[in-house]
Amino acid sequence: EPSAKVIDGKRVAKEIREEVAAGVSKMKEALGVVPGLAVILVGDRKDSATYVRNKKKACEDAGIKSFEACLPKDATEEEVLKHISSFNNDPAVHGILVQLPLPSHINEQNVLNAVCIEKDVDGFHPLNIGRLAMRDREPLFVPCTPKGCIELLHRYGVVIKGKRAVVIGRSNIVGMPAALLLQREDATVSVVHSRTKNPEEFTREADIIISAVGQANMVKGSWIKPGAVIIDVGINPVEDSESPRGYRLVGDVCYDEARQIASAITPVPGGVGPMTIAMLLSNTLTSAKRIHNFN
Ligand code: NDP
Repeated sequence: EPSAKVIDGKRVAKEIREEVAAGVSKMKEALGVVPGLAVILVGDRKDSATYVRNKKKACEDAGIKSFEACLPKDATEEEVLKHISSFNNDPAVHGILVQLPLPSHINEQNVLNAVCIEKDVDGFHPLNIGRLAMRDREPLFVPCTPKGCIELLHRYGVVIKGKRAVVIGRSNIVGMPAALLLQREDATVSVVHSRTKNPEEFTREADIIISAVGQANMVKGSWIKPGAVIIDVGINPVEDSESPRGYRLVGDVCYDEARQIASAITPVPGGVGPMTIAMLLSNTLTSAKRIHNFN
């Protein structure tokens, strides 16, 4: 009998998007200001194009104006920087997002450094990450995917303070900021990565697991402490001849096994995935409010 509560990210994301839409129209009414999000896409990766299209659609649904700069895959770093600079200076733009990964001839550091921190809605500027890591400092923005993970824990009433948390993965965009956020919320955090010996020895002690690895079904039922809460960020295609596309998406965690042992778990898809865009919209509204000093 599966006993775990399913954490419905799709439902929570919808709630947040509606909250954002309400905030956007309030701001528009009061100040005549419409929040704006600019997306910079370089190259023709299919997955990136899909993400950008989804972000645009979500913006429109929330009443946020979207701006777009689509550059060819051989665009120079200078051209990318020029677009960032013009969005930095455009008062109609309150958030700037550079779709990653960039083509390999462009230096990602230079590009992310160029986004002004007041418009860094992805939270990837080193100043925002640095503040996230420091006590008594406040980042202007927190990266959307890990923020979405924490938001799910909050909205499902999961206590973080004093708990043992394990984050699997230490990437700049998910694992590392997720660990920093959990620590800010007074969890005791271990970070497990590809060089960790016997990762299951860490996960078995965890009250909360956030997994952001990209390995299908890596986390077995036997890795999980009874009653743990599991947030599965992984999105992994596995072959599936029954699906019309020939594959389906699964998480990093063996869902069927975990549901017997955990107290709550996010499904894949429908868990963390929809939260990322919801947090992006929320960050964009927050930015517009801060820039216009509106509450
Ligand atoms: P990265 O590939 O950048 O990072 C993966 C991390 O997992 C690395 O830190 C790596 O360790 C670690 N790792 C790899 N293999 C193992 C292993 N066998 N055991 C333990 N740790 C391991 O991925 P991302 O952080 O960008 O993404 C992780 C997953 O989350 C992917 O499936 C991605 O598709 C998904 N994702 C979902 C999002 C969403 O829901 N909206 C957004 C972003 C990502 P090391 O540092 O040592 O290399």
